[in-house]
Amino acid sequence: MSDAAHKAMWEALDLDIEAHDALLAVLGKFYGDIYMAQEGRLKGAEYLDFVLSEVHGLRIKELQDAKAAGKKIVGTFCVFVPEELTLAAGAVQVGLCAGAKAGTELAETLVPRNTCDLIKSFIGFKLARICPYTESCDLVVGETTCDGKKKAYEAFAELAPMHIMEVPQCKAPADRALFRAELVRYKEALEKLTGKAITAEALAEATRTVNAKRRALQRLSALRAADPAPISGRDALLVNQISFYDDPIRFTAKLNELCDEIEGRIAKGEGVAPAKTPRLLLAGCPMAVPNWKLPYLIESSGAVIVGEESCIGERNTRDLTDETPAGLEAMLDALCDRYMKIDCACFTPNDERLEHIAAMAQSLKADGVIHYGLLFCQPYAHEAMKVGKAMAAAGLPYLAIETDYGMEDAGQLKTRVEAFVETLA
Ligand code: SF4
Ligand code: SF4
Repeated sequence: MSDAAHKAMWEALDLDIEAHDALLAVLGKFYGDIYMAQEGRLKGAEYLDFVLSEVHGLRIKELQDAKAAGKKIVGTFCVFVPEELTLAAGAVQVGLCAGAKAGTELAETLVPRNTCDLIKSFIGFKLARICPYTESCDLVVGETTCDGKKKAYEAFAELAPMHIMEVPQCKAPADRALFRAELVRYKEALEKLTGKAITAEALAEATRTVNAKRRALQRLSALRAADPAPISGRDALLVNQISFYDDPIRFTAKLNELCDEIEGRIAKGEGVAPAKTPRLLLAGCPMAVPNWKLPYLIESSGAVIVGEESCIGERNTRDLTDETPAGLEAMLDALCDRYMKIDCACFTPNDERLEHIAAMAQSLKADGVIHYGLLFCQPYAHEAMKVGKAMAAAGLPYLAIETDYGMEDAGQLKTRVEAFVETLA
């Protein structure tokens, strides 16, 4: 696409062109420093570079073309929104990334200052008119997970058409029944939006598509157990980030090609860092595009990240939806079963998360765990303490970090991470 075609498309979406140009310039520089400067990258990373270079270009054009063909675009913020149902309704689902500081002052006119940056970011992107994904959405789906999001969606609903899914906070049978009813309510909202009834056949096909994407991501996760690490944590995080907004069938094919290349690299004993480089598991809050600060600091401190215990990572890909049930009701039961396994910190109790982290650390041969919490995120701040105790019991070195999207603390964080990595070497 030419620059003029890009600009015309962004103007049609009513973006603030000047502010948007500034955002892309910062994003391009950040990407160059953090991604393109890496050594020993896989050839398949060209796909990642291309997708990122066209993140506000070709992919947005595809969304506009889909809309012109009568499809609806559904934006989401949380892994509790079942993509299976969205696809079965013939709609396109995109994650609305909220990984950069933008429009913060505007956002603080709608939500309190002591709100996490992820929330301020999605409100700021909307108010500043710089996100072509948000502006392409026919429906935005929120969910009642943490208090900050719940209340922020009330403000966001004044700016965009929203559907709110109730996500329970416990996992008793009554909670499961509530979420099962919410799946039906979401299905009905999609049918109203698209004018298309969701059939068992469409849901079965959508489930296969989403499961195939998850299987490819699981394959990537498993390959990262190799030493030397065959892919950097930064690139693996980017793969997971892209999984939220690229076309799922294209994404799956490209990721499987990347995994083929990784298998070849492992067979030759090659990696992105020498064998025995300290290996870290990153656990905690989701890292949406372009939240690459901490992974960059870790991997420029002599360590390599081998897994992400996060929603932009294992929490989103660990479980598949059972493809065997026949009939819509049984398929909805299977969806409910799958989504109620998610170990988000918004649940109480949430002990399975501690078990998952210990199991991931073991299978990925991690030498230590870094817990990442976003400033003002209560659920993950509480769990950071529990994770610390669980890691001590498992004999795994542990560091808890709380930060935001700003760069002001980068130097101090790097000092802490370097000191931690030194204890592992
Ligand atoms: S951390 Fe919880 S609320 Fe946030 S995206 Fe994940 S499941 Fe949703
Ligand atoms: S990072 Fe924490 S506070 Fe922010 S939206 Fe997620 S769960 Fe809520």
